[in-house]
Order: sequence, then structure tokens, then C-alpha cells
Amino acid sequence: MQLKLNDSVKYIIEKLESAGQRADIVGGCVRDFLLGKPPHDFDITTSATPDEMREIFRDEHTLEVGLKHGTLTVILGAEPYEITTYRTEGDYTDHRHPSTVSFSRTLTDDLSRRDFTVNAICYSERHGFTDPFSGVADIEARVIRAVGEPACRFEEDALRILRALRFSSTLGFVIEEGTARAIREKAHLLEYISAERILTEYKKLMEGSQAYEVISEYPDIIAWVLSIPSAIRLLPRDRFASLPPNLRTLSLFALSADSPVEAFSHAADRLRLDNAARHEGEKILSSLDLPLSDEVDIKLAFMKIGAPYTLSLIKLLFAMGRAPQQCLATAERILASGAAYRISDLAIKGEDLTSLGIKGPEVGKTLTAAIIAVIRGECENTRDSIFRYLNLHA
Ligand code: ATP
Ligand code: MG
Repeated sequence: MQLKLNDSVKYIIEKLESAGQRADIVGGCVRDFLLGKPPHDFDITTSATPDEMREIFRDEHTLEVGLKHGTLTVILGAEPYEITTYRTEGDYTDHRHPSTVSFSRTLTDDLSRRDFTVNAICYSERHGFTDPFSGVADIEARVIRAVGEPACRFEEDALRILRALRFSSTLGFVIEEGTARAIREKAHLLEYISAERILTEYKKLMEGSQAYEVISEYPDIIAWVLSIPSAIRLLPRDRFASLPPNLRTLSLFALSADSPVEAFSHAADRLRLDNAARHEGEKILSSLDLPLSDEVDIKLAFMKIGAPYTLSLIKLLFAMGRAPQQCLATAERILASGAAYRISDLAIKGEDLTSLGIKGPEVGKTLTAAIIAVIRGECENTRDSIFRYLNLHA
């Protein structure tokens, strides 16, 4: 079987080969090729040392930020390509980073340091596949298997535990028994891993088509990541899988935590969630009891938490069996109709009130009273009708 490499990758490999080095594509791109998916980026592994790579690509646009770890990034046609010198595993003292980086001239050394057999295959046109750990067979069998002794590999870098779960979720692969056993045995070492690395893998895990299966199999690890003290409770599979990743996570808090908002905020702190995601989660989880039974309720929810959060809330509540099926369609119809639900939709503005001598916080309160009246149909959204409703005389 031949993989189709793009011209930039061919160029990089040829350039390294003509300098007497070996170079192959490796990792996720080879795995994705074999799965029939277009790779999203190409990593190249080479026998050339960092200094040699620098010399070979001296006329190209390169980035040297990773060079002391062996990675030179070559930019071709605005695309970055990471080329990394063969490395061996240095000594790990803290379950997360090797204390030293050692370069090697041997491809097998480099493949042995990789996490899973499916990620430890390399390929070039000259050498075909190099697959000392039978990763191709594991891709065919749809199995995630640690390279080498699983427990040792998780002790070296505990993030691999979460990566195994992530690949199982996104690829729909089963985790091989020995690897699964070591995951459970070494899960406590995840506490040594930085919030940022955990969050990256967790997000990918949640995006996966098999996220439900992974959470069901490893509920304690997910509860630990989310700092949920009680047992994880899940929606029925189809309902869970129908949700976008952010709402999948919120469903876990809504069902499993005694105080979902507090639990979520605590996890957001610990995982250093970005402000937008934190705000969204807090708003939605604190609105789980908002009534949404008719158009007026839905418009009031739009007013209170905004239309995008309301749509998400409805999706979440529907999945939880707490909102009727037609609720989302009603909400979308209201939005499409251009009906008023925000203060900015009102036929009067703040200045209309200040010009009548209304001041300070009273302005906002009066506008809020007006939009609520318009939403409830107690007055029309015209200047006259609102003024009459508010007992104001222009
Ligand atoms: P993706 O499609 O998400 O990019 P990927 O397999 O390319 O998946 P990366 O995180 O980009 O994953 O890593 C690239 C390669 O580096 C992996 O395929 C694997 O060979 C190796 N690798 C990454 N992280 C680790 C790790 N923690 N331990 C060992 N090898 C790793
Ligand atoms: Mg990658």
C-alpha cells in the first residue's frame, strides 16, 4: 500500500534524504491515512540532528522554538511541518516530563518512545511502513495498546492515560486489556499533570463519537478530571451522543453533582477553563429550572440569559427529558420572526426616559419592565403603547 504524500512533505523528505539522512512521516498522520481519513497535519521524524536539520533547511522559512527538544518547524506554502530528530525516552522523575531529552540515530528508539502502537508507525516512499510494534494490525483490529509495558509508560507520563481514553473515544477503538488494567492502576498519577494538558485531552475525548462508552467504562477518571465528588451519572446513550461536546459535559454536572453550578465553577477553576466556556456553563447550569413551556417563557429566557444560551439550555433540558420536543422549534421560530425580546428591540430608548427626568438605575428598571410587558403581550412594541403602559406622558 502506498500513501499519498503532498508535495511539501515529499520535498522535506527528499531534502533530508539527499543530505544522507532518513526521514519518514510518523504518528497521527500515518494512523489517519490508514483509517482513510485525511490527516490534519504531518509530523516528520528524522535521523538528522537539530544542527544538521538547521543546515539542511537554512534557505527555508523555519521556526526554531522547539529546536532544543529536537523539533524544527519548516513553513512551506504557509503550512507548518514539524520535523523532529529521533529521540529516546529520557528519565522521567515526575510522571510528566523527561528530565533530559536524548537524541538518537535509531528509528526504533524513536518509535519505542511513542505512546500507542497505532501512533508508532512511520512511512516513507523509500522505506514503506516501519511498524515494529504491529500498529497496523492494531489499527485493523481497532485496538489501543501501549507501546511496551503499559504501567511503566503511564508512570513515565500519566497524560497517556487520558490520551488512551481520548483515542478510544475519537477513533472508536477498544483499549487492550493490559493497557486498560494499567490505566486503572495508574490513574492516580494524573494529579501530576498540568491542567492545560488535561483539558486539551478531555475536550478531544468529549468530541469523540464513543465518548459515552469511554465515560461509562472509566467513570472515576472522568469524575476526577471534573472534580465531581460523587458517582458520574450519564444520560441514556443516544441522548448523550446527540449533544454537542460542551453540553455533554454540562449534562454530567447537571446529573451528577448536588450543586451543579458550584461544582462546575470549581472544575472550571481547576482546569483553567477560558472565560467564555466558564460563563456559558455557569449561565446554563444556573438556569436549569427556568420555565420554558410557552413562547412567553422562551422569550423571557432569551431576555434573561440571551438567545444562544437559551438554545443550548433547551437542547440540554430536552436531552434530560425536562423540555418538550417542540421547544427548540418554537425558540427558533421566535428568533426567525424577529420578535422583540431584548431591551435593544424596544421601540423606546434610554434617552426617551432620561429626557422625561428618569435617572440612573431607574432607566434600566423601566426599560426592563417595558420589555417584559411587550413579551407578555401587555403592550405593543410601539412608543405610544409603551408610554401608556408605563404611565408616562411624552
Ligand atoms: P491528533 O490527530 O490529535 O494530532 P496525534 O497522534 O498526532 O493525534 P499528537 O498529540 O499530535 O497526537 O502527537 C503526535 C505523536 O507524538 C503521537 O502520534 C505519538 O506518536 C507521539 N506522542 C504525543 N504525545 C505523546 C506522549 N504523551 N507520550 C508518547 N508519545 C506521544
Ligand atoms: Mg498530531
